[in-house]
Amino acid sequence: MTDNKIDGKAFAADVRGQVAEHVARLKEENGITVGLAVILVGEDPASEVYVAAKHRQTVEVGMASFEHKLPADVSEEDLFAVIDQLNADPTVHGILCQFPVPDHLDERRVVARIDPNKDVDGLSVVNAGLLASGEKGLVSCTPLGCLMLLRDQLGNMSGKNAVVIGRSNLFGKPMGQLLLKENCTVTIAHSRTQDLAEVCKRADILVAAVGRAEMVQGDWVKPGATVIDVGITRIPHPDKPGKTKLLGDVHYESAAKVAAGITPVPGGVGPMTIACLLANTLTAACRAHDLPEPTGLTA
Ligand code: NAP
Repeated sequence: MTDNKIDGKAFAADVRGQVAEHVARLKEENGITVGLAVILVGEDPASEVYVAAKHRQTVEVGMASFEHKLPADVSEEDLFAVIDQLNADPTVHGILCQFPVPDHLDERRVVARIDPNKDVDGLSVVNAGLLASGEKGLVSCTPLGCLMLLRDQLGNMSGKNAVVIGRSNLFGKPMGQLLLKENCTVTIAHSRTQDLAEVCKRADILVAAVGRAEMVQGDWVKPGATVIDVGITRIPHPDKPGKTKLLGDVHYESAAKVAAGITPVPGGVGPMTIACLLANTLTAACRAHDLPEPTGLTA
């Protein structure tokens, strides 16, 4: 089966197109330029690649992109001074600090310093709490991206059995909350779950976010289920010496034979994350100016 592939790359391009249209309207009708600030501490090569991709896509949708590169040995005090300045700056609607940060900095304290209304990564305790209590906040980008893909595939998810493998604050917990909000019956599985294959087999919606390559095999998947593969594991490329290859948590070939829809790795969930960061920044800008929020781009 190939026509059951959920093309996250194309969907993310569509989301960015919708964001760009709304951003242009805000500029034209309200004189507002939406702005996203990204803080990068140190010179981690993978982080530099992510930040460059974020910058490029931010500019492409017509937003202002503010980059703050700080040395690896920056003190917490100096980092917080930058965050405070961005919190107070009305031209900045979203703030993101690229993780991981060097060991002497505490990620939780960094996130807590960002104004929750500008926390476009949705990682703060305030935004997690708003989501858990069913109130309006900013939702972590990767789970929001998965929700958008699922809504597009399934429409109404009410009453469906959803299984999320993984219970991280970054992904598993907010994903579970979002599916609950869609009226799914939600199971969050983790490393201590017994009979994981059996638990997965009951899922109409199966979301895997573990980081163990191809752990979920085709015979774990209920026929007709929708499978969202969040996991990313980089391995040496079997055919191209010196190159690497990405694998998801799901064994794609066997799972695609039974699933009604399945995201590939790469090209599934990954591209949705930056698209949702841009969507969250737009949402934050609309809220900051008391303007109507974009439809279809929020939880
Ligand atoms: P994490 O914090 O390491 O959490 C992994 C979760 O998997 C934990 O809850 C852990 O359970 C569970 N787990 C580990 N081994 C298991 C097993 N054998 N059976 C069942 N559950 C098991 O990771 P994360 O940040 O949530 O990320 C998960 C994966 O998604 C990673 O591969 C990451 O790279 C990827 N990811 C991708 C994107 C994207 O943009 N595409 C974004 C975020 C994350 P315990 O809690 O019991 O330890």
